[in-house]
Amino acid sequence: MDMRESEMSIDDAYHLHVTSTNKAPLGTVVVNPEGKIWFWNRWMVAKSGLSWQEVVGKKFTDQFSDLSNSRLESAINDALRHGLSSLLAQSLHRSPLPLFHTLSDTTTRIQQSIQVIAIEDRSHQRFCLLMINDVSIAVRKEQALRKQAEQLRSIAYMDALTGIPNRRRLDEYLQDEIRRAARSDSPLSVIMLDVDQFKQYNDNYGHQAGDFCLQRISHALKAALQRPADLVARYGGEEFAIILPDTPLAGAKLIAENLFKHIMNLAIPHEASSVSNYITLSMGVTGLQSKTHISGSILLSQADQALHQSKHDGRNRLTVFSETPHQKS
Ligand code: GH3
Ligand code: MG
Ligand code: MG
Repeated sequence: MDMRESEMSIDDAYHLHVTSTNKAPLGTVVVNPEGKIWFWNRWMVAKSGLSWQEVVGKKFTDQFSDLSNSRLESAINDALRHGLSSLLAQSLHRSPLPLFHTLSDTTTRIQQSIQVIAIEDRSHQRFCLLMINDVSIAVRKEQALRKQAEQLRSIAYMDALTGIPNRRRLDEYLQDEIRRAARSDSPLSVIMLDVDQFKQYNDNYGHQAGDFCLQRISHALKAALQRPADLVARYGGEEFAIILPDTPLAGAKLIAENLFKHIMNLAIPHEASSVSNYITLSMGVTGLQSKTHISGSILLSQADQALHQSKHDGRNRLTVFSETPHQKS
């Protein structure tokens, strides 16, 4: 049957309109020119636990006292006084109204996105229409995606064998910290470490034991560092690098001494080593002098040169980088 508008009585049209509004899966509220609730749909009843009779005729701000001076109250006032419409996105105003998924659990509010729309009746009196959408699912999805992205990011920055930061993380961190040191004119030190005669360790004890040894060394290095800003990373193979922000060379040397102690305390047997009966490390350290601009790669290569000097001089020792090669400072 073709039902044209002209054939429908005003009463029928009104009834159909109210029925659709009541069936809609969103909250619909109409506020009259005096700021009193004039219409409150079934979704609002279901989600607030407040019946139509309870709220209709009450001032919006009397019904919801915690909304006085809120962004929602001023949006309603703007609509009634000036005919201005607005949107209260959930990102800024999470859950202004006390609406709940189930009324038996009123601890978590529905996350809401509220459209505030200025409307006029036939005699040009201003009313305000509120359309309240439940965006909880969208918010939850967004949070899950953000968490997943964070996890992926942390995996991308982690060394799979040892669980400590990898070289990619080290490079980024070093760059950030060099910039920060330059801004605040503070010192920064870098230590490079390499396990001594690790090839022999693998040959003697097997690759799996070698892997386990690298894990123990990483944990010991990490445990030895005190400040949250200190970073130890696996540089590659059996090489590690440590970034020490706000640390002058003298401080870095003390930290290196402490690292030697921690590795010695591990007492991992290494019978094939010509240096010691236990696993040892060689180290090289360099520092960023204040007011000098050096790139991260130069700093790392300086620490590496000093490390090679330690190897050359018999291993299990620390060398401080100096501009003149083959000359310990
Ligand atoms: P040096 O004292 O001069 O540092 O001698 P080195 O034997 O430690 O150095 P070299 O570069 O000759 O050998 C490094 C060894 O480290 C060889 C390589 O198999 C081993 N290695 C590198 N990465 C891993 C790893 O992830 N697991 C194991 N088990 N061994 C590794
Ligand atoms: Mg080595
Ligand atoms: Mg090496």
